Amino acid sequence: MRNIIVLGASGSIGTQTLDLLKYSDRYKLKAISLNSHIEVLEKYLFYFDDLEYVAITDKRKAIEFSSLHPSYKVLTGEDATIKLLDIFKDQEVDIFNALSSLAGVKPTLKSIKDNHDIFLANKESLVIASTLVKELLMNSSSTIYPVDSEHVALNKLLNYLYAHNITKKQIKKLIITASGGALRDLKKEDLIKVTPEQCLRHPTWKMGEKITIDSATMVNKAYECIEASILFDFPLEMIEPLICRDSLIHAKVIYEDNGKLKEVLEYSPNDMKVAIAFSLSKGNLTVHKLNIEEKEKVKNTILYPLDKDFYKAYTFALDAYKNCGNSAMLLFDIIDRKAIDLFVKKKLSFLDMLSLLEYTSKVAREKLTLNNFDDIVKDSLSLGEKIIRSKK
Ligand code: NDP
Ligand code: MG
Repeated sequence: MRNIIVLGASGSIGTQTLDLLKYSDRYKLKAISLNSHIEVLEKYLFYFDDLEYVAITDKRKAIEFSSLHPSYKVLTGEDATIKLLDIFKDQEVDIFNALSSLAGVKPTLKSIKDNHDIFLANKESLVIASTLVKELLMNSSSTIYPVDSEHVALNKLLNYLYAHNITKKQIKKLIITASGGALRDLKKEDLIKVTPEQCLRHPTWKMGEKITIDSATMVNKAYECIEASILFDFPLEMIEPLICRDSLIHAKVIYEDNGKLKEVLEYSPNDMKVAIAFSLSKGNLTVHKLNIEEKEKVKNTILYPLDKDFYKAYTFALDAYKNCGNSAMLLFDIIDRKAIDLFVKKKLSFLDMLSLLEYTSKVAREKLTLNNFDDIVKDSLSLGEKIIRSKK
């Protein structure tokens, strides 16, 4: 049995992970972290006898939780997750990072420094801090296992091809799919009247608020292309998103073999537990369970290109990354999160949200250096506030 900590345990991915861990004979859950939604934990606590520590960022909620459940050691405050990781610094433990957005980045960096293996749902860690992540991995024994469904699929496909003597040089393209998000059946001129309720109705996945809106704007797919490029070490230009409306094909790899272009694809249910379970297995599922097929088997499923004129934010996000890398994406993600928050509260229209992202993509310029991550976060937060104020 291995020890595991789940960060972001109360969220969409966090709770699905707890649902799987309830029945795991592989993992002992030692600790969890969350921001404030302590009520979500009630139906889980009973299952986890080894759970010892609970980190709750919100102080009032931490006090409430402690009085309800005095047997747990409770940590709180802005840096509760980091304090929690510090307690397990020298212990053998795997980290499942299902925190949302910027909150997940420092925990990833710390987990790598502490040589823990990481199941990484928090894609922002790679989008915002890939340079730091790569640097730290060079001196760490930690391995990152993707959790995102498209990246789990790519992981399966690439491992399968490498095991069949296809070399990295023979790989010509990595394709990740997108459902098209909640607005996929609208016309460009309809975007002016899009509501948050509409955007939050994802056609094929049930997910947290930020990623659901990011799927409607396609910022999510831009993040996922960057994530794939970092995880599997392929140039961004080799990664392409295609629309698959039913989200059953998750990824495809095109490769050259004996002068011919061939492809393999992965299809599986649009159920994140399938991806989480594969991730938690560290790739130890047998090949026949991997849902890898030649094109023949799913030839009726059509994949088609993204309409970049409709999904403009996809290009805003990718351009920011291409022009200025991590620090641009830090600012971009801060603005994106804030804009989503205002949009959901109906204080910003959908098109204003897009124009904020366009503006941010243009202004993000500074390069991220290795030793000033905290300063850059602080500067970006205050610049983000200024941009939002000036555009509201
Ligand atoms: P949710 O919003 O549902 O959950 C986020 C989790 O992070 C919650 O547990 C939340 O706590 C916690 N959290 C947020 N801020 C803090 C903080 N400052 N301190 C401590 N805990 C905090 O997000 P999702 O589960 O949808 O997504 C999580 C990550 O996984 C994202 O990076 C997303 O892009 C990625 N992902 C999600 C998928 C999905 O299907 N949902 C699919 C693939 C990737 P609280 O509940 O108390 O606020
Ligand atoms: Mg995904």
